[in-house]
Amino acid sequence: MSTLLSVDEVRHHILSQLSPLPVETISLEQAFRRVLATPILAPSDLPPFTNSSVDGFAVRALDVKGASQLHPIELKVFADIPAGFSPHFTLPPGHAARIMTGAPLPNGADAVVPIENTNLSFHDKATQPPYSVQVFNPVNPGDNVRPRGQDILRGHPVFEPGHRLRPQDIGLLAALGISHIEVYRQPRLGIFSTGDELIPLGTAPIPGKIYDSNRLMLKMLIEQAGGEVIDLGIVTDTLDNVRSALDTARRNNVDLVLTSGGVSVGVFDVVRHLIEQEGERHLWRVNMRPGKPILFGRYHEMPVLSLPGNPVSAFVGFWVFVRPAIYRLAGLPFVPPLRLKAILEHPIESDGRESYLRAIVSYTNGQRLARLTGHQGSGNLFGLSQANALLIVPAGVKSLPTGHEVDIWPLDDSLI
Ligand code: AMP
Ligand code: MG
Repeated sequence: MSTLLSVDEVRHHILSQLSPLPVETISLEQAFRRVLATPILAPSDLPPFTNSSVDGFAVRALDVKGASQLHPIELKVFADIPAGFSPHFTLPPGHAARIMTGAPLPNGADAVVPIENTNLSFHDKATQPPYSVQVFNPVNPGDNVRPRGQDILRGHPVFEPGHRLRPQDIGLLAALGISHIEVYRQPRLGIFSTGDELIPLGTAPIPGKIYDSNRLMLKMLIEQAGGEVIDLGIVTDTLDNVRSALDTARRNNVDLVLTSGGVSVGVFDVVRHLIEQEGERHLWRVNMRPGKPILFGRYHEMPVLSLPGNPVSAFVGFWVFVRPAIYRLAGLPFVPPLRLKAILEHPIESDGRESYLRAIVSYTNGQRLARLTGHQGSGNLFGLSQANALLIVPAGVKSLPTGHEVDIWPLDDSLI
């Protein structure tokens, strides 16, 4: 029996074989979830001009000093400043300018009195600015004013390379007027499923055959991780067919091929045979459960990562190895996946391999509790689907008692 490699060794090797993809320029419209390749400095101040944070009256704070409900101060209204308008006047002493939220503060004014603290007398309500305004509260200089550059100053670093853009980041870049950015090219993964027993969705059931569930699951996982999928379908267990699928992947310039099935010790495990005979096998078999027979290698330079066919093994293999691989290609720094602590609700037996068990984690009295979902067989997708976390039993551990604190990987945002 060949020795099993540790999970960390395997992940480390895979990551060492991959580097961030070339840089391309894209429009901000396409930027969601893309990874910045160059630093971004603010090209201008934000906000770009000093403006009002409320609807009200721009004033000189000195002019309304001492204003109260009993003794309001009356100011003449000089002008209206709607949003989008740039005032080219200086507010004369003893005057106010009616101003809308976001409109530039005129020269001379240093504060805004909210409209709620005023009372208007109109000349002609429809067309003219109010004739005068009574102010019931004093304001300090700077009140209800957003100074230019309050949010960010020109030249200040906004994002470092390696940052994956979220909607709020894209909003910020748009506010700064940045319409194009340099990002790493999106990783393109070719995927195929291997197995004579597989039939595609949409066909009638056939005795002895099963539906190919891995391909769709892996496709979604790749997309969720930020990759693009070239779907190469189902490949039956012959060297010729596997070779031909790999050649198609090469023609499509994929950055990584991800396969499932056919990497175990059986005579029909043709992916392994083909990589061993016609490519380079770098590693095979990890000290992990589920998902021991994982293979990484190259076929004519193209990196190939093969996961076991059992659906739960394929899922776990994806989380542990493929996601970090996609992140590396995408230019993201490696961050170990978020681990949380939970308390075991029942004892667990393990076989000494690093185990990723399907668990349901719940909160009770402020404590995070973990229990396993039904049958832990590596083919049982229902148990995986019921789980909201993977529970990690470290290598070398054979049993854990009730009440033991374990590490979990949340699968749902609801747990974080
Ligand atoms: P293998 O890794 O090829 O030995 O397959 C292990 C188990 O996973 C077998 O029971 C296969 O039928 C099953 N399997 C392989 N590929 C898939 C797939 N794409 N979808 C669902 N089950 C699969
Ligand atoms: Mg097979």
